[in-house]
Amino acid sequence: MKILMAASEAVPFAKTGGLADAVSSLSAALASLGHEVRIVIPRYYRIDRGTLKKLEGAMGVPSGGGEEWCAVYTTELPGSGKKNPVIVYFIDHEGFFGREGIYGNPSEPDFLDNPRRFSFFCRSCFQLCRKIDWYPDILHAHDWPAALVPVFLKYGERYGVSGEQGSFAGAASVLTIHNLGYQGIYSKDSFSCTNLGWDVFYQAGFDDWNMMNFLKAGINSADKLNTVSPGYARETLTASQGFRLSQALNGRLEDYSGILNGIDTRVWNPQKDKFLPAPFSSSELGGKAKAKALLQRRFGLKESPETPVIGMIGRLAEQKGIGELFGPSYGSAWSICRDMDIQFIFLGSGDIWAENETLSLSSRLSNFKAHIGYSEELSHLIEGGADFFLMPSRYEPCGLNQMYSLVYGTLPIVRNTGGLADTVENYNQETAGGTGFMFDDLTPSAIYNTVGWAVWAWYNKPEDILTMRRRGMKKDFSWEKSALQYEDLYKQALEKKEVLT
Ligand code: ADP
Repeated sequence: MKILMAASEAVPFAKTGGLADAVSSLSAALASLGHEVRIVIPRYYRIDRGTLKKLEGAMGVPSGGGEEWCAVYTTELPGSGKKNPVIVYFIDHEGFFGREGIYGNPSEPDFLDNPRRFSFFCRSCFQLCRKIDWYPDILHAHDWPAALVPVFLKYGERYGVSGEQGSFAGAASVLTIHNLGYQGIYSKDSFSCTNLGWDVFYQAGFDDWNMMNFLKAGINSADKLNTVSPGYARETLTASQGFRLSQALNGRLEDYSGILNGIDTRVWNPQKDKFLPAPFSSSELGGKAKAKALLQRRFGLKESPETPVIGMIGRLAEQKGIGELFGPSYGSAWSICRDMDIQFIFLGSGDIWAENETLSLSSRLSNFKAHIGYSEELSHLIEGGADFFLMPSRYEPCGLNQMYSLVYGTLPIVRNTGGLADTVENYNQETAGGTGFMFDDLTPSAIYNTVGWAVWAWYNKPEDILTMRRRGMKKDFSWEKSALQYEDLYKQALEKKEVLT
């Protein structure tokens, strides 16, 4: 199949979260299955044009009642294989993307012109295909910034406004929701930027309490849709966890499923991780002890093999349970570090209050260390060297870190939700079963008690800890498995697509 991935992020070019990992890894895995895969993303200011090849000529894109002009750059996705490489295209528009930030910046967290920027981007995907004379079977859109791709396909690109066959008559669309918490909701005054008629505003269901909702229109228009774990798919169908879109999703029940993300095993593999001091595996764990010692030294902690190290990496956002963990005066991190014989290492960035709080904990507690910022190297060292990995997420569509943790023999301590519930099995003291420690309620005391349980097991049931480690390390989270499920979803989308006769 010919597949065009439309997304706002893709590693190694632009990344704010797991979406970027998923887009590139899935593309590479589909290419290994023999599909012709191309990715299109905006050319943000940070992506150096000098490393890319420019396509000849400018490209006109209908936008806001007129036309915007842009350039297109291209390159091959690094590491996607010589025989059948994934081609990446970059839409280069100075006015929309030639600025610092993907969705916003610290002073303007959600750019005011985001509806125009991403509507333009979605329309440019179709113009790109015309320009390169390459028409995909599948248009695969990711999250709200690309959610107008299925809308444009359904209303105008597949069959013209008067019903004539368009160049995309053979194409079907798939929309993947990586996080339902972000929907692209804007004033409907900006709707004209889409170049769609007001009839489509209502037919496609853009309307959202007198606002305009990009993701909702995408959900209603895509031939097939999915999210990134079966557990999260089920949760999003409920009123309490559907972010006000559970009704729209229930309306598409037949076409909606969950496919677990994989992990990039070329990068996340303890047997050949370039950031670790020595390789290790489930049968040879000596390298993990070396990684732990190095991690403790790097963070200025006492080098102590007996003391359990709890790691945590990620965005400091409400979604990640940071209120319950780091909330000043009520969060559990302070009492965990005060009461338990452990070391706690945090790497990440996000909400300013939480960054300040983690730095404050670092200065008040000798066994808590925080590094604010983004570091590929430290993230590998934490996954490799820590004994436990904490993810008290409020919700988690899939989550990557718990999977990295499992294959690195670092036992996850997680809330029983979404992709975490799909990938971690709770410890059973009777049988030494399980691969991690889980809790249901998101409260400071539930986090405290579950970390306490893990620490108790560390000191009192070391043989269980080893058994669980080895069990987790044998798990297969490779993308190949997920790619086969996407292949199947694409086939269903092609069968399902609306055919005018
Ligand atoms: P989300 O997409 O909700 O942020 P995921 O767990 O799905 O969460 O993916 C986050 C990805 O970003 C993981 O690969 C994680 O290791 C990485 N990451 C997040 N913050 C940092 C950081 N400060 N340094 C290095 N990697 C990070």
